[in-house]
Amino acid sequence: MTSMEHDRWTKVQGRLRSIVGEDVYTSWFARMDLEGIQGESVHLSVPTRFLKSWIQAHYADRVLSCWQAELPEVHRIDLTVRSAMRCAPPVKETKPQVEERRVERSGSTSDLRSGSYAPASAGHDALGGSPLDPRLTFETFVLGRSNTLAHAAARQVAEGRRGDPVMFNPLYIHAGVGLGKTHLLQAVTWAGNASGERKVLYLTVEKFMYGFVAALKSQTALAFKEALRGIDVLVIDDLQFLQGKTTQAEFCHTLNALIDAGRQVVIAADRPPSELETLDDRVRSRLAGGLVVEMGSLGEELRLDILKSRVAAARTHHAGFDVPLPVLEYLARSITHNGRDLEGAVNRLLAHSKLNATPVTLEMAEREVRDLIRPQEPKRVKIEDIQRVVARQYNVSRSDLLSSRRTANVVRPRQVAMYLAKTMTLRSLPEIGRRFGGRDHTTVLHAVRKIEGLVAKDTTLADEVELLKRQLQD
Ligand code: ADP
Ligand code: MG
Repeated sequence: MTSMEHDRWTKVQGRLRSIVGEDVYTSWFARMDLEGIQGESVHLSVPTRFLKSWIQAHYADRVLSCWQAELPEVHRIDLTVRSAMRCAPPVKETKPQVEERRVERSGSTSDLRSGSYAPASAGHDALGGSPLDPRLTFETFVLGRSNTLAHAAARQVAEGRRGDPVMFNPLYIHAGVGLGKTHLLQAVTWAGNASGERKVLYLTVEKFMYGFVAALKSQTALAFKEALRGIDVLVIDDLQFLQGKTTQAEFCHTLNALIDAGRQVVIAADRPPSELETLDDRVRSRLAGGLVVEMGSLGEELRLDILKSRVAAARTHHAGFDVPLPVLEYLARSITHNGRDLEGAVNRLLAHSKLNATPVTLEMAEREVRDLIRPQEPKRVKIEDIQRVVARQYNVSRSDLLSSRRTANVVRPRQVAMYLAKTMTLRSLPEIGRRFGGRDHTTVLHAVRKIEGLVAKDTTLADEVELLKRQLQD
């Protein structure tokens, strides 16, 4: 891809993102790559057939019009499924590092290692389990304060034997992007299958949806269900992307069937069950009925340990590679967001030191990772936190906020809380209504407008709202 094509692509991605919104964008487009532009056709690729058919069915026009806005001569979009074998394993030689950076630059949040998967274990082939990364094991998972509990629970699951009583079902792990969910889930899968005694199946939710959709089309839904029920542990990653009524119903059946049969289910998502707003109540409560564990952000100490372990791993292939402690400390202090960026930083230092045959210095590190150091992202605010903080501020109880009482001393705080829920979270109006004692979305909308209007005129209220926001962001 030329740099001009790359720039165009970045702009098209920007347009697409603003048209479809952040959530949809990350669900469906984050892993779309530009392969090239030839005359009036643009060649794009995605990693799975499911993504391809979904994008073609729902977003083809919008993708085309975003391109036309940048390049009017474009009249056609070719969307293909890229093969997983396109790029070679990243750590073994220098070239794939370059490949990796290309993917990073294109803004992809997808797993950069998509090409480096080892053949999946036998259990996976039969059901089309998602590919596993051989590096994501318990051995390489670094422990810190934020992930001890999740790790312990995952270990427990992995060490279970066929017929053992299931202690918590499902095990539900949630955390923001890059905090180790996939790592932990794949570790469970590797370890669980290693004994040869149990069958552990790892599926991204996309694979689950694809498997099901494909099974329905080929009239083998029953076979699919049977096969799924024949496994001991079902591991599902990125549940927040579950979409569609039929798929949801099927997911619900599968979940119930497995749990009732005493099989273990492990799930990861970027939010707690209560905030999976597209799921219906029954699924949500089933999900919340096991053990729900959150992994917090990686503390500085943990970040440093992860960096050290990454460098040590890289050194097994590149003996000359060395990163002085002050550089590691600098990286741990400044790259605060997620494990993926830590990995990216080490890869860049490695690539740079290999390509230029120079040792890693602090100065070089500062230059190389500049764009990975982002300003502090606003914290993920939860509706419960908003309700708690608002209730405390106005001296009412949280159940007052959720109740149907309409006295002035609860109506205003309730409206403020709904307003904050709308402005500080990505939750929809109906979802907020549901979380405020099952109110209608029009009630929420009314509250939001009301407070917006008041804040513009009433400086006392404006200050109160400001103060609440600050408390919630600390
Ligand atoms: P998530 O699925 O939560 O978005 P991943 O599991 O893909 O995050 O983690 C992102 C990167 O950070 C991976 O390379 C992973 O190996 C690394 N990582 C995250 N947490 C840890 C940890 N505790 N120990 C080692 N590596 C970690
Ligand atoms: Mg993940």
